Amino acid sequence: MEQTFLEFWMKEAMGIVSDYFIFATSAFVLFYIILKRPMWFRKVQKKLPKVTDYGRDIMYSMISVGIFATVALLVFFYAGEWSNNYNDISKYGWTYYVFSIVCMFFIHDTYFYWMHRAMHHPTLFKHVHLVHHKSTNPSPWTAYAFHPLEGFLEAMIIPILAFSIPIHRETMGMFFLFQIIYNVYGHLGFELYPKGFHKTWIGRWVNTSVAHNLHHDKFDGNYSLYFLFWDRWMGTLRTEYDETFEKVTRRDAPASQVLNAPFSRK
Ligand SMILES: [Zn+2]
Ligand SMILES: [Zn+2]
Repeated sequence: MEQTFLEFWMKEAMGIVSDYFIFATSAFVLFYIILKRPMWFRKVQKKLPKVTDYGRDIMYSMISVGIFATVALLVFFYAGEWSNNYNDISKYGWTYYVFSIVCMFFIHDTYFYWMHRAMHHPTLFKHVHLVHHKSTNPSPWTAYAFHPLEGFLEAMIIPILAFSIPIHRETMGMFFLFQIIYNVYGHLGFELYPKGFHKTWIGRWVNTSVAHNLHHDKFDGNYSLYFLFWDRWMGTLRTEYDETFEKVTRRDAPASQVLNAPFSRK
């Protein structure tokens, strides 16, 4: 039976809502409740967001979900036949299948970096991007907390990917799942990569929770999403990044200090 546009929209919206809630809730319960004490030394900013921050972020995230579902509806329901998505892997082969996944992340990272930098123009920042920056100490709920206009710009990655390179339908699904997970990690407030990772051959080019947390704390620099290519190439990686990463991943706090950490909300 043919899907109606409302059924398509509901299915997309429910899919994004459940992915967002599954990963953001799991991360929140794990790091802000169960592992809060043992992982506190990995907390980038040694304080907790306010309850009102969580509420505001969840509310804006729900609006973002509606916008993402609407853009997906317009792209795949109405214009799907013109997209470059394909179903049969043998059409381009396995090598291309893997290559296309790498391309998707690089395309998204490039789009995000420049769109994000543009949104730090004073006018756009004040009227649009400020909503996302209201959380100066982000939590997993901040991942999709966007002003509706920013939500629309963020969702533009859907037509960009659908109408650029050929993408298998499965990889499109995997890509959107992974980008939710990485966004939640980026706003987690805790660093998960191992000590010294930022100086490894791979780690130098991979974005971390420390890097994005610094962006929320200081407002400029560190504009990337998955990688640090653009920040390093354009000289926008914050100078204190290495030092902060080392500080957060070094377990040097004496036990007494760990126990006295501010577990009550500030
Ligand atoms: Zn920003
Ligand atoms: Zn952010």
